[in-house]
Amino acid sequence: MTGLPVRPDLRGATPYGAPQLDVAVRLNTNENSHPLPAELVAAIAAAVGTAAAGLNRYPDREAVALRTDLAGYLGHGLRVEQLWAANGSNEVIQQLLQAFGGPGRSALGFTPTYSMHPIISAGTGTAFVDGRREADFALTAAHAADQIRRHKPDVLFLCSPNNPTGTALGLDVIAAAYDATAGMVIVDEAYAEFARSGTPSALTLLPGRPRLVVTRTMSKAFGMAGLRLGYLAGDPAVVDAVRLVRLPYHLSTLTQVSARVALTHAPALLETVAAVKAQRDRIVVALPAYGLTPVPSDANFVLFGGMDDSTRMWHELLERGVLIRDVGLPGWLRVTVGTEPETSAFLSAVSELRPPTR
Ligand SMILES: *Cc1c(COP(=O)(O)O)cnc(C)c1O
Repeated sequence: MTGLPVRPDLRGATPYGAPQLDVAVRLNTNENSHPLPAELVAAIAAAVGTAAAGLNRYPDREAVALRTDLAGYLGHGLRVEQLWAANGSNEVIQQLLQAFGGPGRSALGFTPTYSMHPIISAGTGTAFVDGRREADFALTAAHAADQIRRHKPDVLFLCSPNNPTGTALGLDVIAAAYDATAGMVIVDEAYAEFARSGTPSALTLLPGRPRLVVTRTMSKAFGMAGLRLGYLAGDPAVVDAVRLVRLPYHLSTLTQVSARVALTHAPALLETVAAVKAQRDRIVVALPAYGLTPVPSDANFVLFGGMDDSTRMWHELLERGVLIRDVGLPGWLRVTVGTEPETSAFLSAVSELRPPTR
């Protein structure tokens, strides 16, 4: 690229992405390891077949039918005007930053958090400010509000459950953060369906908070990372703002059709969530016996520390055919929760590396 007149802020940067390695046990990108139900696969194939005949036409630019279905899935009395969908929640977040961030504006997030928030901020020319968490990765209402008042961001990112730490935020934190800013508040709930019971969604806070936006995705709990379908719920005015920056026909006919079919199979798809949560809790319970310290998780992954050299442990697990994620936090690693056999493979590799201490 050296000969090209690339934007100065992009020079020397590398493209984001975890290694896509051909390994037996892949637990590094928080996908759902469970295969899609066969009847859903057949239903998508049939619907795509029918829709293919209409591919000479552009898709419904407003994706009204899909947004209506998404509103029905979320509940909480949400209406189609409050829903918006795009190619993954990453694109939804990009559209939000295009509308509410941009040059001369700033976004605040609480590190460690989802690494795409700063990257999408950079791509849209939005300055990203690294906020702080407590030593145990928690975030209190007072600490969050204090940092928000100090930095006055135009866009605030709250990730709940937080990637890579795994824990959900209390609604008190989200409400206090909202009250502390005049900017937009984006609650990234990519993992909401995996939260431990009794963990309320920020969707319950939407009424009366027009600057609050909740983003969701079909990539994780729905097990459809390959579909590329993310969405938001918020005030109808937020949707109108996003429409000013979205590309026309951004969401293909095939994506819209496939997502609608998947939503009709939501109960069957979400059955895997309970299985994943059981394996997650199994990992959280098992790791301390190997001298490792897991962070409480509301997600389909577990962050754990306690090793001297996390990079070495990552390599040693890979040598045993288990790929997990080095999230760039020295002393910590993140493992995605897969199927029962994958969890067993991970735990048995861990036990080879670290014989049980009790
Ligand atoms: C995986 C993930 C997403 C999902 O992105 P998609 O573009 O919908 O696949 C969003 N936010 C967080 C925090 C994630 O971990």
